[in-house]
Amino acid sequence: MRITRVRLREVTGTFHYRGEFWEQRLARPLDIYPEHRADPREWWLPEQDGPGPYRLRQIFLEIETDEGVHGLAGPLTRDVALVIGTQLRPRLLGTDPLAIERRWDVLYRSQVHGRKGAVMMAISAIDCALWDLRGRWDDAPVHRLLGGPVRTELPVYASTLGFSLELDRATALARQLKAEGFRAQKWFPRWGPADGREGLRRTLALFSALRDAVGEEVELMLDAWMSWDWAYALAAVRELAPLRLYWIEEPFLPDQLEAYAALRARSPIPIAGGEHEYTRWGFLPWLVRGAVDVIQPDIYWAGGISETLKIAVLASTHGIPMIPHGHSVPATVQLLAALPEPVAPWVEYLLKWNELLQFFFREPIQPENGVIHVPERPGMGVELDPAKIDEERELAWDN
Ligand SMILES: [Mg+2]
Repeated sequence: MRITRVRLREVTGTFHYRGEFWEQRLARPLDIYPEHRADPREWWLPEQDGPGPYRLRQIFLEIETDEGVHGLAGPLTRDVALVIGTQLRPRLLGTDPLAIERRWDVLYRSQVHGRKGAVMMAISAIDCALWDLRGRWDDAPVHRLLGGPVRTELPVYASTLGFSLELDRATALARQLKAEGFRAQKWFPRWGPADGREGLRRTLALFSALRDAVGEEVELMLDAWMSWDWAYALAAVRELAPLRLYWIEEPFLPDQLEAYAALRARSPIPIAGGEHEYTRWGFLPWLVRGAVDVIQPDIYWAGGISETLKIAVLASTHGIPMIPHGHSVPATVQLLAALPEPVAPWVEYLLKWNELLQFFFREPIQPENGVIHVPERPGMGVELDPAKIDEERELAWDN
């Protein structure tokens, strides 16, 4: 079998949502600068013309072969699609799509400046498309190709990014998620060190209210999205300790590994991180240094199914669970169904992001009563739904 086409399909659809879709953004590292701190916008939102529905535009990768079988991945951001279209596509055409490990290694070795960031995200997407293709070719879900199923049902934690942090509304949602069966939920404070004591006070007030709302049996996590400094983090872990959080995520920028390790040594609350780290080589120092209690590679960013499996193996030798960041729920579900529970215990489900990221799928992968039933459909188990596509164009970027 040979790869005959590498298509980048840009599709546009209409996303109907009553009211304001994004209610609150999270704290960002840039918030140390007042002009950024004052900016309420979320950067990655779909276009909206006035008060009407959102125009959703997304790019999907489709790898076609001379045997008629294809592989799908996405949605992808434009910078990632550009890397595929200009730099990686020529290295795929004419090659064997089933030799996935070789494809990955050739792409990796061809991109010596691309070990992290958009290039590795592009390699990740190609890897996921190739696993999807192989699943369709074998008429088997990816988790079976990986030696699974180890599990047919995966517990899901709800991520509330984008929802209001006003105490009344946040606690109402927290109770609702508990009633829907989620056994864990993650929240994203809007405040950070630039807000001083007031930022910490509001964070404590939010998590105290959430703990009161859900009781002791629901796990609560806090995602700082790389926005804290040392003094703020140290005060936060001490003051939040009585609320028994399940973890604090990404307190620092990912290059501040020594700060992670130092905080973990002092924190009564487990520390999580790695959502913005890449590949087995990127994660090894996190493990060797003892920087975190939980590692969180994203399959669509850190190197795809092939590489995240290797990261999981590395983490398991250190006894550190891998709980992937949830950019692609379909890919995460396939990988985690092939791993034992202690190696990769939870699927992250970003409630609002998944409405966007799975919008164009015919059968989005969604939790029921706090778990995802692992789909048995071939490959990653998702297909684009033509009924949701208003317009489509092909991105060429031929060089
Ligand atoms: Mg996160």
